[in-house]
Amino acid sequence: MAKRKNKARFVLEDGLIAGNRLAGSIEVTPRGVFLSFDGYGEKCAAEGCGQPVMVEFYEGKLRLIAFGDINSEEPTYVIDMNGAAEVLRNSVRCALCKKDVPAAKARRDRDNDIVCEDCWDDRMA
Ligand SMILES: [Zn+2]
Repeated sequence: MAKRKNKARFVLEDGLIAGNRLAGSIEVTPRGVFLSFDGYGEKCAAEGCGQPVMVEFYEGKLRLIAFGDINSEEPTYVIDMNGAAEVLRNSVRCALCKKDVPAAKARRDRDNDIVCEDCWDDRMA
């Protein structure tokens, strides 16, 4: 396979067993971020070509898709990540006054900073 700029190799170190490693690669495309791991694949992919984990942005939702069963064509997990959206935090810290405020009463400014309603109003005044 031709080496592509949007693909990079990595090595994972076992979190418990010293010296145990697993190599893989990450491919970044506009359609998704794909992870492959040496020795792991998908039912419909040729040996060594599977990408059993992907992250995509689909119908306005961030999704994590995992093919955890080599004998199944269907993903074992499709995880909707929208619950991890920062705007859903119970409280957020205003970038300007540094107060914790309910997330529902905060906004993102054009610099992508979280700003409370009071600071927002002060800015607009
Ligand atoms: Zn503020």
